[in-house]
Amino acid sequence: MPTLANTDLLRAQLYIDGQWVAADCGKTFAVTNPADGTKIIDIADGGAVETRRAIAAAETAFDSWRKVTAKERSATLKRWYQLIIEHREDLAQLMTAEQGKPLAESRGEVNYGAAFVEWFAEEGRRIYGDTIDANDPNQRIITRKQPVGVVAAITPWNFPIAMITRKVAPALAAGCTIVLKPAKETPLCALALAALGEAAGIPPGVFSVVTGSRASEIGAELTGNPSVRKLTFTGSTAIGKTLLAQCAETIKKTSMELGGNAPFIVFDDADLDEAVRGAMASKYRNAGQTCVCANRILVQESVYEAFAQKLVQAVAELKVGNGADDGVTIGPLINRAALDKVSSIVNCAVENGAEVLIGREGSRGAEENYYYPTVLANVNEAMDICHEEIFGPVAPLLTFHTEEEAIRIANATPYGLAAYFYARDIGRVSRVSEALDYGIVGVNEGIISTEVAPFGGMKESGIGREGSKYGIEDYLEIKYVCLGGVNR
Ligand code: ADP
Repeated sequence: MPTLANTDLLRAQLYIDGQWVAADCGKTFAVTNPADGTKIIDIADGGAVETRRAIAAAETAFDSWRKVTAKERSATLKRWYQLIIEHREDLAQLMTAEQGKPLAESRGEVNYGAAFVEWFAEEGRRIYGDTIDANDPNQRIITRKQPVGVVAAITPWNFPIAMITRKVAPALAAGCTIVLKPAKETPLCALALAALGEAAGIPPGVFSVVTGSRASEIGAELTGNPSVRKLTFTGSTAIGKTLLAQCAETIKKTSMELGGNAPFIVFDDADLDEAVRGAMASKYRNAGQTCVCANRILVQESVYEAFAQKLVQAVAELKVGNGADDGVTIGPLINRAALDKVSSIVNCAVENGAEVLIGREGSRGAEENYYYPTVLANVNEAMDICHEEIFGPVAPLLTFHTEEEAIRIANATPYGLAAYFYARDIGRVSRVSEALDYGIVGVNEGIISTEVAPFGGMKESGIGREGSKYGIEDYLEIKYVCLGGVNR
């Protein structure tokens, strides 16, 4: 159990229509610490009935929240932002306990997550329509942007705060109301955010949280209920496809942040030390459990040996352990299934000829989910590791000869979320950044997430953008009003 300065932030109930309530049936499920398998707390196990109630409350609340002025909504969001920042340490402790990431990363995520609330508090005041010259002199044409209505959000466990604020903040700023189903692995941060939102004055029903272990039951209600006008989802491509299909019946708007298979390309004109720093940040953050983590490291042949050597040296300095302990840089994977999946991907690559330069075997104690940071050489495109999202601290190295070959390999995937490359030649920088079929491209940079820029994928990595001035558009409908009879 994490030690919190404000114990009020540790919540175990559903938050529906401004009330903290148990599941109707009284059922609970355990939230555990991935570092050692210990139980943190039992929390309410909601299902379809509770979700339906939250949606009904959101529909009622929408009538009044949409009429609140943008300035007032902004003020509420700014209070929420302040409270998140004030409670940063408690939120970070909760996050490391339920998710496993090192405390320094958790503190960073609280800042990053809060930044979306601050940003959209500001953007919500800058929603503009147009006036358009009509073909008919008797007409005037105006457009206005209106909130889409009740929103449903489904979020993953790898960023237990940021993936929520990216969705909830623009929705509320736009005048929508929202029902959130967080991942069952990390519901405590979601409930703590709701408690802080309540303290900030977000009215009942405007933001509800339904925690539960039966994701498909809650998901069926969120996607099937005609009162929900939009679904925003972050998670795997497979579940995203299921949810898109479910939303088709009631033609909901959707935003989808799905899987990735990020290439990280090191050209022969790169600053190799910088490239190693970027690769470390992009690959090993959150123990490799992000959708923008480098998944395939492509290195031009002439610099391959030097890069591999420097990377191995840097990896040797990582410290694996409980994220709550000082100096730890790689925490546990989220659960045993994740550990088994990473092991199996690596073992399969090794059986097919990949060479382990460092790492591979993790701790496999009964309740321990550690995988040691690994670098694999001699990887080639035919191996499964180049086509699956690894979601673990494993860096597969491939070589290439020419720019064209690097681009071809990089784009040979149905995914298109993030790509990275290191090069100094200005012509190459322009050519490669244009040729990569990815929504986000980091050039000489391994960390690309920020609230001020549009985050999102092409191809099977998703639909829509989060953050930036574009992030609020997904929560707005454009209405065109034609004013006739002007001269009569
Ligand atoms: P991950 O591999 O990151 O867990 P998932 O796509 O399985 O990715 O999960 C992301 C979110 O989607 C989680 O909140 C999870 O509970 C939820 N989820 C999983 N399956 C379904 C489903 N069938 N319907 C609705 N939500 C689901």
